[in-house]
Amino acid sequence: MNKATKVGIIICDRYRTCAGGKCLRAMRNCEGAFSVYKESGAELVGFTTCNGCPGGNVEYAGEEMVKNGAQVVHLATGLLVGYPPCPYIDTFRDFMQHRYGVKVVLGTHPIPRKYLELHTKLGTWEDPSWNERLAPTMADEATRVAYD
Ligand code: SF4
Repeated sequence: MNKATKVGIIICDRYRTCAGGKCLRAMRNCEGAFSVYKESGAELVGFTTCNGCPGGNVEYAGEEMVKNGAQVVHLATGLLVGYPPCPYIDTFRDFMQHRYGVKVVLGTHPIPRKYLELHTKLGTWEDPSWNERLAPTMADEATRVAYD
C-alpha cells in the first residue's frame, strides 16, 4: 500500500512559468518544508498557481486538490520570498484549513541564499511573526546555497 503523504502545491502567479524544478527536487529529496516526509515519502496530487492577486484560484484549487486526495497543501516558497512576499499568505492558509479541513504548510523548497541575503538587507522578515512562517524552509547554509 502506498503510504506516501499526498500533497498539493500552489505557487505564486508571478512565477507562473516556473517548471517546478526546485519544489519537485525538494520533494524528492525531502528537503525544506518536505523534510517532514522522510518517513512516508510524498506524492504530488496537484500543482497550480493562485492565478494572480488576490489569489482567486486558491478557493477552487484547494477544493480540487482535496478531492484528489491531498492531505497537505503547500503554499510555495515563492509566496514567502517574492518581492514583496504575498500579502495574502496567512489568509490562504486559514481559508483552506477551515474550508476544507486540510493541513496547509507555508513553503516548499528551502529558501535560496540570495533571497535570504536580500530580504535580510531589506528588513522584510524583521517582524517576529515571520519566524513561524519561515521555519519550515529555513534550511542550513549549504542547502540554501544548493538552491540558489
Ligand atoms: S502575491 Fe500572492 S496573491 Fe499575488 S500572485 Fe503571488 S501568491 Fe498570488
